[in-house]
Amino acid sequence: MASVTFDQATRVYPGATTPSVDKLDLQIEDGEFLVLVGPSGCGKSTSLRMLAGLEEVNSGRILIGDRDVTALSPKERDVAMVFQNYALYPHMTVADNMGFALKISGVDKGEIRKRVEEAADILDLRPYLDRKPKALSGGQRQRVAMGRAIVRSPQVFLMDEPLSNLDAKLRVQTRTQIATLQRRLGTTTVYVTHDQVEAMTMGDRVAVLKDGLLQQVDTPRRMYDHPNNVFVAGFIGSPSMNLIDMDLTDGGVKFGNGVLPVDRATVQGASGNQVTVGIRPEDLVPSTDGQGLPVEVDVVEELGADAYVYGHLAGTTPSATDKPLVARVDGRSVPMKGETVHFTPKKEHVHLFDIESGLRLGE
Ligand code: ADP
Repeated sequence: MASVTFDQATRVYPGATTPSVDKLDLQIEDGEFLVLVGPSGCGKSTSLRMLAGLEEVNSGRILIGDRDVTALSPKERDVAMVFQNYALYPHMTVADNMGFALKISGVDKGEIRKRVEEAADILDLRPYLDRKPKALSGGQRQRVAMGRAIVRSPQVFLMDEPLSNLDAKLRVQTRTQIATLQRRLGTTTVYVTHDQVEAMTMGDRVAVLKDGLLQQVDTPRRMYDHPNNVFVAGFIGSPSMNLIDMDLTDGGVKFGNGVLPVDRATVQGASGNQVTVGIRPEDLVPSTDGQGLPVEVDVVEELGADAYVYGHLAGTTPSATDKPLVARVDGRSVPMKGETVHFTPKKEHVHLFDIESGLRLGE
């Protein structure tokens, strides 16, 4: 086992004008499960492939433990990668697929069999060892791909969207299995996904990337409660945080017919006379006294225990591109479409961001 360090690691693809990964600084602890997440094209796979040795590092360094592996070949790094498409050999049995890397590195047959069987027991694959991949379900194939990584007892597991070929239900089950397995083995793991729910449920910590730049790395809880900027605020959480530009006024921010009190110190450095106010759907509370933000209800999504109310600021005409406002309400008391409901925020859960830089203001 070992820690992993990205030290200003940068990748510029040949012919590209901007780096796909730009001066990435990231320290992953020994035994930690770190998830790299971000929208398509943000540089997740490139980061992982740099760590695997499959992609050149143009500047900066990558360390595994104290070893600088920047110039080492993939084989010399002692990492095992689980790919999106599993890349199983169709003509080989499950056992041979799992033991292949060991065979190539000259491990003796008895030892290979022992390690393959141990991994098969961990992954519930014993009954399938003599089958070919085509005679397995998607979930079983995924486990074989995991098994192939486990038998090598590497210092680091690298996983690139390993659940993307599974259907929704199996994905949820398998994500728990992988997280449990990782904790049991205690192997440092870097896991790539575009799915923020996967990131939040699996990772000890989550690193959010955008346009090749690291935005924030934190525990899921901290990331949810303290997004560093507007991008992270909108990316983490579903439905996403309401982000509304509002006028600054004496003592706070103008909020509908009232004022949302804000510390002067918090907004002192703000550019201009507006700030972006961020409020999660569960932190908007319907008010009974007509105070707060008037929202005209467009759609109500009933989920049973609760409901999501989607709407727009009353008195405005929303365009097709306007993001709706969304509030979570009690499923047993939902407003009607077309009704105007006033909402007030839970003050302790209001986020403020600079309107120009998008950076978090205050704590
Ligand atoms: P992600 O995994 O987050 O979807 P990638 O790391 O695959 O993103 O890609 C990051 C950026 O680098 C994208 O703009 C992509 O088009 C570009 N890119 C990825 N691979 C190559 C390549 N082999 N050659 C040139 N550009 C690439």
